[in-house]
Amino acid sequence: MMLGPSTGTDGLKMTKVLEPGLDARQLDSLRTAMEARSRQLREEIRQTLLKSDSEQYLQIADAVRDLEDDSFADLMVDVSLAEIDRDLEELRAIDAALLRLGEGSYGMCEVCDKPIDPKRLEITPHALRCIDCQTVFERTHFQKTGHTL
Ligand SMILES: [Zn+2]
Repeated sequence: MMLGPSTGTDGLKMTKVLEPGLDARQLDSLRTAMEARSRQLREEIRQTLLKSDSEQYLQIADAVRDLEDDSFADLMVDVSLAEIDRDLEELRAIDAALLRLGEGSYGMCEVCDKPIDPKRLEITPHALRCIDCQTVFERTHFQKTGHTL
């Protein structure tokens, strides 16, 4: 119902629409979903660190407790735990997507600059690439290294 082509001037006046297929309300709910997920991921990562035997990780877990956003991911650069790799990757993607949302470039593929399918964004709000570029990315990625990062 909500993603059909625009019906023109329907009372909503927007000066510029940089996110094709997504209106302000959808962007808002995507932002809320991503912020909630970001908090959840940070807490999960922190809990994993707390359960580790590493003194260094325990210190990091302590240090990140009150941190937000960018600085959190920065501190995680020193952490090499397979368990949090996926969480961390998702968290970085969410942070990047939120940044793009603030800049008005959200919803555009970072590789080919074409709009990402809104249906894809509904399922994966933090998607930074369109499905085509994502497929290529994953293929080259896994062939090269066999793991992320
Ligand atoms: Zn693309």
